[in-house]
Amino acid sequence: MIVNAAPPFKELSLNNYLFNDESLKLYEDYISKTLDHVQKFLANRKFYKGDDLEEIRNNKEKAKLVSIANSSPIDHVLNELNSLYIENAICFHNPNYVAHLNCPITLPSIVAELIATTVNTAVETWDQSTSATFIEQEVIRWICNEFSFNDQSDGVFTSGGTQSNFMALLMARDHYAFENFGINIKQNGWSEEVNKFKIFCSEKSHFSIQKNAALLGLGYDAVIPVKVDAKMRMDTEALYVAIEKTKQEGNIPIAVVATLGTTDYGSFDPLQTIGKIAKEQNMWLHVDGAYGGCYVLTETHNHHFKGMDMVDSVTVDFHKTLFQPVSCSAFLVQDKSHFKYVSYYADYLNPIENKDIERPNLIEKSIQTTRRFDALKVWLTLKTLGTKTIAAYLEQVHELAKQVYDYMNDNPNFELAHVPELSTVVFRYKNSEAAHEPTHDDVNLYIKNTLFKAGKASIASTKLNGNIFLKFTLLNPKNTIQNLLNIVRMIEETGKQYQPKTELL
Ligand SMILES: *Cc1c(COP(=O)(O)O)cnc(C)c1O
Repeated sequence: MIVNAAPPFKELSLNNYLFNDESLKLYEDYISKTLDHVQKFLANRKFYKGDDLEEIRNNKEKAKLVSIANSSPIDHVLNELNSLYIENAICFHNPNYVAHLNCPITLPSIVAELIATTVNTAVETWDQSTSATFIEQEVIRWICNEFSFNDQSDGVFTSGGTQSNFMALLMARDHYAFENFGINIKQNGWSEEVNKFKIFCSEKSHFSIQKNAALLGLGYDAVIPVKVDAKMRMDTEALYVAIEKTKQEGNIPIAVVATLGTTDYGSFDPLQTIGKIAKEQNMWLHVDGAYGGCYVLTETHNHHFKGMDMVDSVTVDFHKTLFQPVSCSAFLVQDKSHFKYVSYYADYLNPIENKDIERPNLIEKSIQTTRRFDALKVWLTLKTLGTKTIAAYLEQVHELAKQVYDYMNDNPNFELAHVPELSTVVFRYKNSEAAHEPTHDDVNLYIKNTLFKAGKASIASTKLNGNIFLKFTLLNPKNTIQNLLNIVRMIEETGKQYQPKTELL
């Protein structure tokens, strides 16, 4: 048999684009060019350049991937990127950005991102992650200790609160089915009884509870919203009644979600009472601490965490209140054996015969396979800043929220929705001349959209009892009350300018 001659090598570019020992000089060059663009980003004084429809349309064109068959110099491409993206990006560190739960990020976390991305460790199996495994484990240990969990507890990094909440509800479902009906959902799939499973959370809990219930095959209707008190905390009397009612209807209450730090109001559900009810009823108790969880570090808020000993699982988002870049979140369980509901032993990755206590495979705790080494940024932040600095940041943004509240509360142009418990303030501008509700809604949306489009301030909106309210989410410890009052003044001025639409008959 005649062996075919090897096909000729395709001509390769002389430029070595791949990261390796030969491309270090080029790596340095790329990094220094990147720094120029970072400087440009920081030179933007506004949180946003402003909204211009023609420019938005142009940018949509500019983003198109045309003529990419051949290489281009990086300088060229970075310049293009600058005008398409960096110049238009929202600066979360800017003090006039007070919209969503995006925080300014610590410098060590950025360095950690650079290292983790360059080394490109996947925290998956020991033979890919080696000692990175211990860094993730130690960060998990640290946060478990902060919640006063014992050494039976464990956890894993996730892509965010939504994924952490998914894991919690999956465990709650599978654990209840297994313990009470001997049903192994992981192995055998669906079963009749599961149709009756119900999950309880406050009406102010995060939408990902409903969304995850749907993804888990339980459906939105498996989630029973429990009403809140005047402080936006779950009404535990109402929880008790709702559970009893569910049982009378022939359904099965399997889990309660207590939110520590609701997304809109920063309110803390009363954990101790909820915990007692959940345990009496043999239900899984999950804490959604995506927003408020890191406040366990503070003296001002750690009393809200009494009752953590009764908790089965916890969600905590470091990309919200630990000043970390996206993504950075963890899911914790009080009893690590519950990770059996997600573990899988794949022949090619982590065969069970190869289980080695000294060289663990983190994949056994995750619903992801290839996973980023997000724990490194937390580790480097903790080691560099220390927890006291972080606690001071968190207390500072809470203090700012209280000060804004006090000011608005004395101002007849504003109606406040709640007393801030964390670092959000929900309010609306009340134009005394506006006679009816729809006008208030229009004015408040007008204020929000006008200030955003002008690049003056980014404020969020939400609904309370069907009406539009505005929201400050304060996560920037470098913000000042003077600056926030300046935003308040812009809101008043913009509200005054609003011209009601004249009705066309
Ligand atoms: C933000 C938030 C979530 C979702 O977290 P992501 O990290 O955005 O997926 C869940 N619960 C609460 C209370 C939140 O505030």
